[in-house]
Amino acid sequence: MTANLLEFDLDGLAVFCEGLGEKRFRATQLFRWIHQRGASDFDQMTDLAKSLRQKLQSRAHVSSLPLISQHISTDGTIKWLFDVGDGNAIESVFIPEDDRGTLCISSQAGCAVGCRFCSTGHQGFSRNLTTGEILAQLWFAEHFLRKHLQTDDRVISNVVMMGMGEPLQNYTALVPALRAMLDDHGYGLSRRRVTVSTSGVVPMIERLSTDCPVALAVSLHAPHDTLRDHLVPLNRKYPLDELMQACIAYLAHAPRDFITFEYCMLDGVNDQAEHANQLIDLVQKHARQGLRCKFNLIPFNPFPASGLLRSPNARVQAFAKQLQEAGLVTTVRKTRGDDIDAACGQLAGDVKDRTQVQNRMAQQRTIMLVPAYSVQTQESGDA
Ligand code: SAH
Ligand code: SF4
Repeated sequence: MTANLLEFDLDGLAVFCEGLGEKRFRATQLFRWIHQRGASDFDQMTDLAKSLRQKLQSRAHVSSLPLISQHISTDGTIKWLFDVGDGNAIESVFIPEDDRGTLCISSQAGCAVGCRFCSTGHQGFSRNLTTGEILAQLWFAEHFLRKHLQTDDRVISNVVMMGMGEPLQNYTALVPALRAMLDDHGYGLSRRRVTVSTSGVVPMIERLSTDCPVALAVSLHAPHDTLRDHLVPLNRKYPLDELMQACIAYLAHAPRDFITFEYCMLDGVNDQAEHANQLIDLVQKHARQGLRCKFNLIPFNPFPASGLLRSPNARVQAFAKQLQEAGLVTTVRKTRGDDIDAACGQLAGDVKDRTQVQNRMAQQRTIMLVPAYSVQTQESGDA
């Protein structure tokens, strides 16, 4: 079997090239061809010696994931569904904004955490994605977008690990993928523009702070353990106090950063004035020890099996105001791509059980590849 070169960060590719008797600078050239130029055909890589290209042809390949469908929203958001085999599909979403292009990507097929309000959680866990499957989402999206926007400039300026899966439960595959995103010879994204979102896998938060301290978002959703145990079952293993300590320790490695606390607003469950007060207490108590944070309130994306409802807008606004008045920076997430069901965190959409995925995939094959691509030209901008 030949190796898919998307599986490697630069160090990994250097080891692979060493195995072919090639020096590290060859790996760097190859890495740049693949990630910066989107090349998958070794013959294109004209500055590599013919002998190396021949070796690569027989031992390696650069392969993205099979695309099942592509949906483009009227607001420019694009959702891709990829086949990861055995009836499993994962999704990635591109969200264009005036000053950035954000790609939301998946880390697992399904998820084992089983949060009450999450459709991925309701599907259960199928398997971890490999480094190559994580990176393939970015590789495909970036080079697809460049081609269709007819630009050589970078289109994706931010990556958020907020698709399907719990990234910190797939740590060994995640870290090389993050490194390729940050690598100047890869995507060259700045550390603060790559966000890992986690439901709170405490030991891995600690490891990430030394291995690859990217921006950290923590899915909080509740101000105390009783409610959080219920909404985010992982809390029973890593309760709030431990989670807060892990956040504080993380920030010690990233001195000017802050943690983004995500808080999904569930009608009558976690959205009352008393919950806001409890949140303020929780954060203020830990602020003294060095916790710096922002809140991002997420309007719940309802799905029938959850039995939960979205908080009314007025309640979300009142909750935000309460936090803001206590001095906590708070934003409310804009919903994007509503018409194509592309909200981050609820990408599995209407997947009811895994046996249906295959049927759904078969149906979607017929609607893939929209002919007229119509996202407005946008800045490729980075700070
Ligand atoms: N497993 C990670 C990352 C993927 S989920 C995590 O939980 O952080 C990304 C975000 O979407 C999380 O904040 C998650 O709580 C949120 N989310 C999940 N289901 C949602 C839903 N139905 N509506 C709104 N947000 C949801
Ligand atoms: Fe998993 Fe995140 Fe969904 Fe919870 S919210 S089930 S951790 S993907």
